[in-house]
Amino acid sequence: MDDLMRENEELKKRVAEMTAEAANNESILKRTQARELTLLRADSLAQLLRAMVDGLRESYALDAVSVVLLDPQHEVRHLLLAGGDRPDEFKQIFFVDSLIGLAPQLAVLHKPWLGPFVGADHHLLFPDTTNLKSAALVPLPRKDRATGALCFGSRDPSRFTRHHGTEFLAHLGAVAAVCIENAVNRARLLRAGITDFLTGWHNRRYLQQRLKEELARAQRRAGSIACLMIDIDRFKSINDGYGHLAGDNALKEIAHRVESQIRSMDTAARFGGDELAILLPEAGAAEAAHLAERIREVIAAMPFSLTAQIDRSLTVSVGVAAVAPGRHETDLKAVADRLLADADAALYRAKALGRNRVQVGTG
Ligand code: GH3
Ligand code: MG
Repeated sequence: MDDLMRENEELKKRVAEMTAEAANNESILKRTQARELTLLRADSLAQLLRAMVDGLRESYALDAVSVVLLDPQHEVRHLLLAGGDRPDEFKQIFFVDSLIGLAPQLAVLHKPWLGPFVGADHHLLFPDTTNLKSAALVPLPRKDRATGALCFGSRDPSRFTRHHGTEFLAHLGAVAAVCIENAVNRARLLRAGITDFLTGWHNRRYLQQRLKEELARAQRRAGSIACLMIDIDRFKSINDGYGHLAGDNALKEIAHRVESQIRSMDTAARFGGDELAILLPEAGAAEAAHLAERIREVIAAMPFSLTAQIDRSLTVSVGVAAVAPGRHETDLKAVADRLLADADAALYRAKALGRNRVQVGTG
C-alpha cells in the first residue's frame, strides 16, 4: 500500500513537472516566434543587429547577449558605415576574421551548445558581464558552415544545461542567419544605387536626396548651406591624348585631392562625367569660396600621374553658391534646385572667364 502511494506521489510529481515543462516550452515557443518576427521585420542592418542584441536580451531576460559575426573582408562593417552607423557603437557585436580567436568552441559549432559558463573558454564572449554561470552558443548557419554565433549568458546555472532541448535555439539561429544575409544583400544594393564606381563617392541621386535633408536641417537651425560645383578644365583632351584609362586615373586622383580638403560632415558626390559637387552644411558663401580656392590650388599645385610614364598638370574651375532657407519656405525642392543651378551658373562663368578659377554665385 505504501509502495503504491509512493508510486502515485511520484507519478503526480512527474505529471506536474511535465505540465510545467510543456507550459514553459509553449511560452518559449511564443517568445521565440515573436522574436523571430522582429528579426524578420528589421529593415536595416543596424536595426537587425540591435534587435539581435538588445531585443533578445530583453525578451529572454538574459544577463548577457553577444553576437559573433565572421567578416573577414570587413564588408559588413563598411556597409554599416555607408548606412551612417558606426560599427564600434555595436559593443556586443564582435566582427572577426576567424571564429577560433574568440572561443575555441565556435569553430566546430554545428548545433547549439548549452552548458556551464567556463571563464577560460567564454570570457571573451561576454567581457562586460561578471558572475555568469551558464551559457548558450548558437551557430548562425549558412549552407554547411557557421558564419557566426549568437551567445547567451545567464547568472542562473540552471538556465542553460546539457539537458535542455536545443531545437528552439537552432531555429532562432537559422532565422537570424538568413536575416543577416538578407540585410547585408539589401545594404549592398542600396549602396550600389547611390555610389559612383570610379571615385567611390556618392552619386548625383544621393546628393540630391541629401541636399533636401540638409536644407530641412538648415531651416530648423536658421542656418545656411553652401554648394561647390567643380569641373575639370579641358578634360576631354586628356582622354583624347592619352586614352580613357588615363582620364579615369586623373578623375580618381582629383577626387582624392578634393577629399583631403573637405570636412567629415560635408557630402562629396560625382555629379556628372567630370563634374564633382560638394555640399557644405553650416557654411556660407565666403567660407565656401575659401574652400573652393584651396581645392583649386591643391589641384593645380602638382601634376597628375596619368600612366606610369605620363604626368600632366590639370586645373579645375569651381562655382560656389549658398542659401539660407527662410523659416516659412515650404518648397525645399525648389530651394535645392536653385542652389544647384546657382552653383552651376557660377561654374559656367568661371569657364567663360578663362578656367582655373573660382566664381561665387550671386544667388
Ligand atoms: P571644359 O573645360 O569646358 O570643362 O572642357 P572639357 O574638355 O572638360 O569638356 P567637358 O566637361 O564637356 O567634357 C567632359 C569630358 O569628360 C567628356 C567625357 O568624355 C569625359 N568623361 C566623362 N566621364 C568620364 C569618365 O568616367 N572617364 C573618363 N576617362 N572620361 C570621362
Ligand atoms: Mg570639364
